[in-house]
Amino acid sequence: MDLKRGLCGCIDAAGERLHRLSADIWSRPELAYQERDAHDALAAFFARDGGWTVEAHFKLETALRATWEGPAGAAGGERGPVRVGFLCEYDALPGMGHACGHNLIAEVGAAAAVGLKSLVERNAAEFPVAVQVTVLGTPAEEQGGGKVDLIREGAFEGLDVVLMAHPSQEDAPYLLCVALQDMTVKYRGRPSHAACYPWEGVNALDAAVLCYNNLSVLRQQLKPNWRIHGIIKHGGLKPNITPDHTELEYYLRTPTRAEIPVIKAKAEMCFRAAAMATGCQVDVEFRNTFDDILRNATLERLYEENGKTLGMDFTTDQEVLTSGSGSTDFGNVSYVVPGIQPYFYIGSSALNHTPEYTAAAGDDKAQPYTLRAAKALAMTALDLLLRPELLQSVKREFAEGKLREDQKLQEN
Ligand SMILES: [Zn+2]
Ligand SMILES: [Zn+2]
Repeated sequence: MDLKRGLCGCIDAAGERLHRLSADIWSRPELAYQERDAHDALAAFFARDGGWTVEAHFKLETALRATWEGPAGAAGGERGPVRVGFLCEYDALPGMGHACGHNLIAEVGAAAAVGLKSLVERNAAEFPVAVQVTVLGTPAEEQGGGKVDLIREGAFEGLDVVLMAHPSQEDAPYLLCVALQDMTVKYRGRPSHAACYPWEGVNALDAAVLCYNNLSVLRQQLKPNWRIHGIIKHGGLKPNITPDHTELEYYLRTPTRAEIPVIKAKAEMCFRAAAMATGCQVDVEFRNTFDDILRNATLERLYEENGKTLGMDFTTDQEVLTSGSGSTDFGNVSYVVPGIQPYFYIGSSALNHTPEYTAAAGDDKAQPYTLRAAKALAMTALDLLLRPELLQSVKREFAEGKLREDQKLQEN
């Protein structure tokens, strides 16, 4: 189709500056909620592209929004606008730089957005509806969940669909992502000389160790695909001082968000039992819950069809498709707006969260694959804009899926 070819041309035309954008973010890795340079680089990118309303520090210090309002469309503004959102992530990992390739996520989102805008500008009469393109810069995916904060702030309201893509070892319209609850558990006891007056002390390390063991015992009663994993972050100062405060960090994961309250209640009993046994006080701080991804078959199919025309080789390995079980704050987005987060090959077999992946995400070799993912995403958006019945089925599927999952949540 000519418009799709035109769209790919628009993205290729911006290839050099898109590469500069992701190289810039890659060369200055920043941790969750501290992505000031990445934020500024994206804001400058859209300001320079022209025509965008750029809202820096949008609702969060390192989030941003860029919006472009297209012309009225063939129906003279009677229909639409259809609001398409592209998401950019850009946080890095401690000690490893961009080992998850989020610099490339930023590039994909920016590429798809400027490409689609440029195409609509040149061919407005071909579009049956008015088009609005929104880019959301969403910080803190690796730690904290910036998208969950942004949902709470209403940042996704009004969008009809959201699209993003994540670097991986293969092309896949979807990979399993599970729900996640992360938390900090703190025990407070009383210090004392551990040899002279041990009876005066209340041992917070004992509480931490009991907590760890309680959860290890609990693990054998969990469903096979539930996960509990944690660390002792602080365990005391010196052997001859009874530790008076300790800290653990835990992740609880279940296949769906509906099971999170169940595992959370079980874990909480373990935390509290350890406090009771030792006489310590316990504080549990639950942070943002990440939801599993509410899938959208129509969007996945469109992405796959478009990707194939660009030469993507989608994995059919069931092991890959079903066994990976990381978590993402995109899951939460998928429950408020229909959307997909496909995965894309970047020219390397290195695994995410390794130094080798950091190198791959900054390599020139990743560029054609990154632009290809952006093209497949933008083409998917184009399908929805040109064929309103497809957008309707995307929305219907989303509403049905959400209703089904909400019912499960209520049952627990
Ligand atoms: Zn990651
Ligand atoms: Zn990631």
